[in-house]
Amino acid sequence: MSEADGLRTYRGKRHFDRTKEPSGEHPGQHGGTSDAGDEPAFVVQIHDASTMHFDFRLEVDGVLKSWSVPKGPSTDPRDKRLALPTEDHPLAYETFEGVIPEGEYGGGTVIVWDRGTYRPTSHDKKNRPVPFAESLEHGHATFELHGEKLRGQYALTRFHGREEKSGGSARKPTWLLVRTKSGDGSSLVRNKSGHGSSGGGTPDPRRARSALSGRTLRQVAETPDAPTWDPDGGGSTPGGGSTPPTRRSSTRSPRRTAPTRADAAGRASSPNGPTARTRRAARTTGSSCKTR
Ligand code: MN
Repeated sequence: MSEADGLRTYRGKRHFDRTKEPSGEHPGQHGGTSDAGDEPAFVVQIHDASTMHFDFRLEVDGVLKSWSVPKGPSTDPRDKRLALPTEDHPLAYETFEGVIPEGEYGGGTVIVWDRGTYRPTSHDKKNRPVPFAESLEHGHATFELHGEKLRGQYALTRFHGREEKSGGSARKPTWLLVRTKSGDGSSLVRNKSGHGSSGGGTPDPRRARSALSGRTLRQVAETPDAPTWDPDGGGSTPGGGSTPPTRRSSTRSPRRTAPTRADAAGRASSPNGPTARTRRAARTTGSSCKTR
């Protein structure tokens, strides 16, 4: 399927004169992972729409292949997370954060929860590499995520439930997103040492913070016009006014908003880096955290 075909559904559902979402009309328009080498991008957004959900997107052949993951990705290999395919999105959507107006398709607030690159690792039963797009078509793709929060091997697997056989209504296929153990268990060892993800589960979407701006859903909803779109890494901001510092830090983004009470407690003494942030995210998981 060509890039244009892949995005037709996306464009058909949106009114770009009324929303600030990227249209994907400029092929060069990209979210800014150029500093990450040649690896394709991934992004996980939290979308506070009619139903709160996570959107898991992988760059494949010029578009973001997308799944809606109601509970969000888990870092615990024992959790199989439902992933429902949604329409391809343009690459530029990787850094979209803001408010889609009520009444529009997907109306609600979006934050970029995690982003980074991934290494496709799909292979066949004889352990020969398989092109990633092909593996998706076959219904089983494996990849290693290099995000700020999510790190390690994951798999997306389509399963054929009863809906496949029930004819009549053409229901969409269902997938599972699972954290997989690497062959030598090294990813789990890394976890124990505090890198990447800790004990599994998913952060509370309402308390989770953007990997781009450090903001929560509520903070984005309250100031939807705060700059979130910086594809060129320049200092200019849409909407004029003050010019905040550029966000193009390779490790950590400057914060745009005044610290909240939670920040004052949580950030004041924390060292920089995704590890500290991931730990904090794990702490706030509360009852949804299955292993702590
Ligand atoms: Mn969504």
